[in-house]
Formats: sequence, structure tokens, C-alpha cells
Amino acid sequence: MLLTPHMLLGAAIGSQINQVWLVAPLAAASHFIIDMFPHEDWVVEVEVEDLNKKSILVIIADILIALGLVYLLARGTQNWELMWLGALCAGLPDVHHILHVLFGPEKFKKYSRAHGKFHWDKDLRFIPGVAAQAAVGVLSVWAIVSSR
Ligand SMILES: [Zn+2]
Repeated sequence: MLLTPHMLLGAAIGSQINQVWLVAPLAAASHFIIDMFPHEDWVVEVEVEDLNKKSILVIIADILIALGLVYLLARGTQNWELMWLGALCAGLPDVHHILHVLFGPEKFKKYSRAHGKFHWDKDLRFIPGVAAQAAVGVLSVWAIVSSR
């Protein structure tokens, strides 16, 4: 999945749970659980050698949208620290994509393979491919906003 639904779900977990020791592992686990949902990544599955300008632009936009939404949702709330912890822990399992760009696709292969086992790997058309990601994002924002 894109980073935005992962980080929004992590922030939602942080908005609902007041224990630091629970937020971090639950948010990280949520990453692998929603990666199993039927979805299409388009960009993330692209190998490092194939990364083109459009893919890099989508990745940067995804990161900025995720950080911007978490900032807006967490700003001024009581649980803002736990929301950021949840968001970062939920996004962390995908950091190997960035490490691949920096250090080459051969690095962290074992982790990438393990991560891939949780990942939905069938092709989907655009609407169904985006539906699960949009649903996770919308439900997460709803959980955060309704808990204020
Ligand atoms: Zn992932």
C-alpha cells in the first residue's frame, strides 16, 4: 500500500490507545495486515532499476501527503505524540524501499522477501486497486476526528 493509508491508520491507532508500549507494535503490525488487503501499488512494486521520474514524484507526493495529513490531524490534540508514534511505526516497515534506492536493490533482500509474503500480489484495475487504500484512509481519518 501507499504510505498515506499506512500512516493514517497508525495515527488512528495512536489516537485511540493511550499506552506507548501498545501503540508502536500495533501500528507496525497494522502495516502488514493492511498490506494483505487487495490493492494495487503501481509504484512501490517497481524495482529500483526501473524507477523513473514519475514514480519518484508519486513516492515524494505520497510521503508529503502522509506527513501533511498526520500533521493536520494530530495538531493540537491530546494524543499528538502517540499519533505521530503510530504513524511512524506504521510507515517504518516500508523503509526498505528507500534503503534500496540509497544502497542498492541487493541490500535487505531477506527482509524484502519476508515483507513481500504479507503483500497482496495480484494485479487489480485502478478503482478496485485504490478502493481498499481509500477505505483505510477514510476510516482512519473518521476514527481520529470522532475521538476528539
Ligand atoms: Zn508494506
